[in-house]
Amino acid sequence: MSDCLFCKIASGEIPADVVATSDTALAFRDIQPRTRVHVLVVPRDHHETLAGMAAVDAQGAADLFTLAGEVAAAEGIADTGYRLISNVGEDGGQEVGHVHVHLLGGQRVGPMVATRG
Ligand code: AMP
Ligand code: ZN
Repeated sequence: MSDCLFCKIASGEIPADVVATSDTALAFRDIQPRTRVHVLVVPRDHHETLAGMAAVDAQGAADLFTLAGEVAAAEGIADTGYRLISNVGEDGGQEVGHVHVHLLGGQRVGPMVATRG
């Protein structure tokens, strides 16, 4: 998609701090890190949601988690642990409409979600 931020990062049109790549995905540091390690793993192809992507490209969706695991190992947090999050839609807090998995770690990342409203 021509106006999609993460498509532009995937194509190299907009620079990012890329830490790992695969044939189908890339991983780069979040511009506003919430934890000591905060990396976004995104598919090269444009999909809006992870579930929507999984329905049409199950292997591509799986590849995101493989790359996330490789980044966790490279960042030295595979053993201490980490959290993977994919926000969906308004209630989920999704700001960028291109699938991304947040890899959060390097510290205790705290409660899983905000308290029940
Ligand atoms: P989400 O709220 O799940 O859609 O997450 C979008 C994430 O993208 C946020 O954590 C932002 O800090 C991050 N972000 C926005 N623009 C950039 C950028 N140019 N490079 C890296 N991360 C970005
Ligand atoms: Zn996109």
